[in-house]
Amino acid sequence: MTSTAMSTSMPLPLLVLGAGTDLHTERGVECPGELPPPSDPALVERARAAKAALGDRVFVLGHHYQRNEVIEFADVTGDSFKLAKEAAARPDAPWIVFCGVHFMAESADILTSDQQTVILPDLAAGCSMADMAAIHQVEDAWDDLVEAGVAQDTIPVTYMNSSAAIKAFTGRHGGTICTSSNAKTALSWALEQGSKVLFLPDQHLGRNTYVRDLGGSLEDCVVFDPHRPMGGLTIEQIQSARMILWRGHCSVHGRFTVDAVETARREIPGVRVIVHPECRYEVVELADEVGSTEKIVKTIAAAPAGTKWVVGTELNLVKRLAEQFPDQQVSFLEKNVCYCSTMNRIDLPHLVWALESLVEGRVVNPIRVDDQVAHYARVALDQMLALPGETHKD
Ligand code: SF4
Repeated sequence: MTSTAMSTSMPLPLLVLGAGTDLHTERGVECPGELPPPSDPALVERARAAKAALGDRVFVLGHHYQRNEVIEFADVTGDSFKLAKEAAARPDAPWIVFCGVHFMAESADILTSDQQTVILPDLAAGCSMADMAAIHQVEDAWDDLVEAGVAQDTIPVTYMNSSAAIKAFTGRHGGTICTSSNAKTALSWALEQGSKVLFLPDQHLGRNTYVRDLGGSLEDCVVFDPHRPMGGLTIEQIQSARMILWRGHCSVHGRFTVDAVETARREIPGVRVIVHPECRYEVVELADEVGSTEKIVKTIAAAPAGTKWVVGTELNLVKRLAEQFPDQQVSFLEKNVCYCSTMNRIDLPHLVWALESLVEGRVVNPIRVDDQVAHYARVALDQMLALPGETHKD
């Protein structure tokens, strides 16, 4: 059906998903049709009123990649790890509304007390990168490493952007979680514990950190494809690799290109290029600065007026930075990349629905991690917190 045909025959639904018509693609979506329409002019007022009625009983977290209309209601903004720590630092708030994606809400649930409930306003707000490593695939890959005779010397290092089940796998196998801020410290620790690292699920962060930050060689890295037998590798390749990189990537950051960097340099004299380490190695190599979202925010905030930037990270954040620093020129790196579609599942109608439900005494979309999974995931998260140096700064 064309959009024109759709708009003449029926009003455009708020959600294509969520109507119970396709249960497979709607997995996890709980949308009983109580959402206010997105065009409701009273939405902002309703969000304000609900938040005021809830007072200190609710704490709203907003990831940097969220839309402005949502960020406006966040008590704190930040990257995934900062937000999980902020949630843990609010033991008196019984309800944590997490405006981010599923794995972030899981981490917040793991780090908060049993008396607190973490709420994700739309359960369809997932992360395509996290979904690229399913627990059964990772268990199978580990069996391959056992078969290759290298599992006992391999330390898993898992990026925050992963399911609680993968974090628990990491804890069970003596590994650590890392963020884009502390990946260097985490990787260096892991390479002291074993001769190899299995890096999950973002191949680019693993490669960039190993080669650029630790001075390793690209030749030490192999990519394990979970859709192929033995990851598409020979036993010899697995045995001789130092970094076994999971074949996962961010569907936003993985799309920035060398061509876009070269075009920006050509068209904007004196431009500085700053990108996230989830970008491809070739792109990161050409950038002037590389860093987590927190580092990108701080770097631009500290730059003098007149600085020209092109920024390779999610578009909502780049647009907000451009608004916040009008005395600098802040542009988006790539013409062919748009918002993180899953992050954008969280919108004002869903936030209003979650908050108003709490006012009525109903908890919608709670995120609860199984106790045993949470236990081992916490082991891996605690290992990260115990890493030396500046591990948990953002
Ligand atoms: S920006 Fe990338 S890593 Fe972040 S939530 Fe979206 S898909 Fe996942």
